[in-house]
Amino acid sequence: MKRTISVLGGCLCALIVAVADPWCRAPFDVVDSKVPDRLCPVPLNGQELGGEIDRRIRNLIRSNYMVVDLDGKWLDHFRNRTSRGSRSHVYYGIGKVLDAGSLFAAYTGDPEVAARTQYVVDELVKSRDADGYLGFWSVEPENRQNHINWILHEQEYINLAFVRHYRCTGDPRSLAHARSMGDYILRTFPTPLNPCYDAREICTAGLAEGMLELYRVTGDRRYFDFAADVPHGNDRGEVQFASLRTWDQDFSRPPRHVYVMLARCYAQTELYRLSGESNLLRMSRYMRNELLKQGEGGLLVSGTCSDAEQFTYNQNGRGAIGESCVTAYLLRWFDSLMRLEGDLRYGDVLERTMYNALFAANSPDGRWIRYFTPFSGERLYDTRDTFCCCGNYRRAVAELPRKVYYRTPEGGIALNLFTNSKKSFEVNGQSVTISQQTAYPNDGEVALTFSIGNPVPFAFRFRTPRWCERMTVRVNDEPPMIVRRADQADGCCVLDRTWGDGDTVRISMAMTWRFLRGRAMQDGRVALLRGPVVYCLGKDANPDLFARCAEPRDLVIDPASIGEPQKDETIRPDGRKVAAKAWLARNGAREKVDITLTEFIDPSGLEVYFRAPNLADTSPVRLAEDEIVSWPSEFVNVHILRALYGPKASGDLEAMFEVRGPVAADLAADYVPPGGRMGLKAEFPDSTGGSWACYNSRNGGLLSTAAPGDVKFTQDAALDLTRK
Ligand SMILES: [Zn+2]
Repeated sequence: MKRTISVLGGCLCALIVAVADPWCRAPFDVVDSKVPDRLCPVPLNGQELGGEIDRRIRNLIRSNYMVVDLDGKWLDHFRNRTSRGSRSHVYYGIGKVLDAGSLFAAYTGDPEVAARTQYVVDELVKSRDADGYLGFWSVEPENRQNHINWILHEQEYINLAFVRHYRCTGDPRSLAHARSMGDYILRTFPTPLNPCYDAREICTAGLAEGMLELYRVTGDRRYFDFAADVPHGNDRGEVQFASLRTWDQDFSRPPRHVYVMLARCYAQTELYRLSGESNLLRMSRYMRNELLKQGEGGLLVSGTCSDAEQFTYNQNGRGAIGESCVTAYLLRWFDSLMRLEGDLRYGDVLERTMYNALFAANSPDGRWIRYFTPFSGERLYDTRDTFCCCGNYRRAVAELPRKVYYRTPEGGIALNLFTNSKKSFEVNGQSVTISQQTAYPNDGEVALTFSIGNPVPFAFRFRTPRWCERMTVRVNDEPPMIVRRADQADGCCVLDRTWGDGDTVRISMAMTWRFLRGRAMQDGRVALLRGPVVYCLGKDANPDLFARCAEPRDLVIDPASIGEPQKDETIRPDGRKVAAKAWLARNGAREKVDITLTEFIDPSGLEVYFRAPNLADTSPVRLAEDEIVSWPSEFVNVHILRALYGPKASGDLEAMFEVRGPVAADLAADYVPPGGRMGLKAEFPDSTGGSWACYNSRNGGLLSTAAPGDVKFTQDAALDLTRK
């Protein structure tokens, strides 16, 4: 079909959308997507990727993956099973280690990395029982051990990791191992026909993700059906007990475990690709809205979220903030939405997350990983190496090389992450090599050089990051074009032309300082950014400051004092810092001190939000709302505080809620969960009592579905009265 597309060109978009897309087939897929992606990832290997991203990956491989004690911390537990006794909440996370290891081996091409990964596969399989059981607890009657806390959680990711190993190596034994694990889970998973200790106690974050991967490489429908229809979830602390198809949850009550909810959203996007059932994107839309809605979203300036692993809008930066599992799944899930929708604005979130929350969750030498990465107060390492976050961190970093370039269904090339790289693509039978040279994110200059045998037409698109309002693009020696981000559909600029050997594209994004306005708990304060990078105040660069400044977030930063960034190699090669001045107190003694701000990856970082002398005028530094938390709110929370029942009246707002009982059902038809609230107590003047059902509105709060003759609310009135 690829040839058909190229012959017909762009004139039959509908046909193109309907065919299996050759770019999007992952290695060893035997099942095609029903919904083709609009952007398909092009993984880069270690020879092709350079810059800070490559350095970070290699650091993590060399200083962490290759030195952690695989036997003592993981494999020995599986070799030498113990009885469970009274222990609970035991988890090591070997599947996550293995999943990252396969990607690391493929990325580096290093036989030592591959051998280490193969060792994990072999040793795990040696510890496996004949019936497929893999775990660190002795087998109990009815396989109960599997469902106490987190043995199944190990198996979910072991299953996923075996598929990954098969995809990366082509070794059919790994596929057989994955089937063995998957079949064991299918046989023993608690269902009404298969009673167990307690189905609602199991963490199932990786369950559906792994099963759908297994379906993709086997075509065995049992794995698909399991992922789609079997209810699961730990509704005591994580996620509603439901199947992927029936999951319908909001933040009106706990649990709001962000990692598990995002893992489900991600799995739903995968199921959507395979089934085309559009309601599977509903929870993703809801989560996106709650994270990114303008002025209110729960996303933190560092590009992650979660407080004590739960969702919050409050912008607290101190304590158990930004679980690394959340950071990892934000990247995975936003990337999935970006591929489905073809909207590169998600890439703005990806780079914010990567350069801040993600990289700050790892020590500069690559050795230690954090469970949480707060932006206020001290950050700690999780020195266990095991458990969820270290594992998911490695996976997220291992997946970065597939977030740089993408293909479009029409055969075009899309550039998402600006980073040194050299990658060859096949376009209409021609080899097209794109060399990318840049110091990004130190500056916004990107030089692309195309090496092509014969001239070939295709659309080259690149992301137009929203931190840059206006950029200059120059092809060869042609007059430069001014590209305004506001004019770009799907967050990218498209250069559709015939490309020839030696063609160049120069993208110039003026990278100036900007303040982002704090929200909620950070209201009245500003964070300092340059491009995607958040700057912080750290102990190491300001050794004498903190004795005089107990509350660094009360420092009043002088915008005019913020200088040009300077080279600073104390945290990373070719890193940056900036000198500035700040007042120690807002009122009273206004002693001015020198401060040095460093990149958010500074492990001694303690604060990112500060006061400014005058929020109405922060010149010469621009003050803006966070450009990535700018999604128009799709949902309006409707809370009817008081409902009156009786003859119609008009005039005041209270009277506008005087609707007859049956109308509530009519209204409900246009109000979609998630986010609804059932059983709200209602006041009825005739003392009959009753309750209302309130739903999140997708029509901007316009209660327009009342039956003819009933009160129709204007949008403004409804919003005034009902908005949370
Ligand atoms: Zn975690």
